[in-house]
Amino acid sequence: MSRQVSLFGMQIDALRMDEVVAQLLTWVAARERCRYVVTPNVQHAVLFQEHAGLRQAYADAALIVPDGAPLMLVARWLGRPLPERVPGSDLVPALFAAAQVRQGLKVYLMGAATGVGQRAAENIQRVWPRVEVVGVCSPPLGFEQDEAYNQALVRQINDAQPDVLLVGLGAPKQELWVQHHSAGLRVPVVLCVGAAIDFLAGHKRRAPVWLRRIGLEWLFRLASEPRRLWRRYARDACRFPLLVWREWRATRRPKALTPAPRSS
Ligand code: UDP
Repeated sequence: MSRQVSLFGMQIDALRMDEVVAQLLTWVAARERCRYVVTPNVQHAVLFQEHAGLRQAYADAALIVPDGAPLMLVARWLGRPLPERVPGSDLVPALFAAAQVRQGLKVYLMGAATGVGQRAAENIQRVWPRVEVVGVCSPPLGFEQDEAYNQALVRQINDAQPDVLLVGLGAPKQELWVQHHSAGLRVPVVLCVGAAIDFLAGHKRRAPVWLRRIGLEWLFRLASEPRRLWRRYARDACRFPLLVWREWRATRRPKALTPAPRSS
């Protein structure tokens, strides 16, 4: 069990990227049950406070690894440092690269706009030939309400027998969907990855490495898709400072309760 850092109510696993990749490959090899990974950022931290479903999805997650640079900064400032960012969009290529030199990997891509998953599959197959994309699905808008559609989708995913399912539906939709269907999924590892399928397809451009290093990936994304993202970023920018202040104030009070450990 890794050390966990408590932040805004989320219990974040203090693991480096290579440790997470090693853990995922172990779970793939064991094929015991469906385990899923969530990658919190500022948006998640804000939603987590008001969304009981997202809190449940976090409680049932096998790994919670930090995506957002602001979370890293706050964790360090509060004296609970996390070793390194593990964003979904970096975790996926790191996992594929490790699988490429080891046992190979069967992957299913769920999410992103029509045609994007297929382009991502072509790129994956070109860059990591031992990573086989065994299925692609871009569910239509509102699909999550359609129980018959979801049952068929889970069946389709299970029939493809992937080792890893990438779910890119944005938060909190992807976490809620995975939590709701994890019992029916016969996939050892599910990763909730936001826009990672878009990045793999080259449909969206990732921020340059130097911007990611200085923690400004969010600014690049906002500048790339202002019409879609400004509302989300504005809401988060208003609420996040309050969360940080509350968290800082709580650290000055003696601890009354320790959170229950998560299952892994
Ligand atoms: N998306 C989807 N179905 C939906 C809602 C979103 O496939 O019902 C996709 C969307 O096309 C995009 C991804 O989910 O590829 C979410 O990207 P976002 O930028 O929200 O993720 P982030 O990386 O910011 O968490």
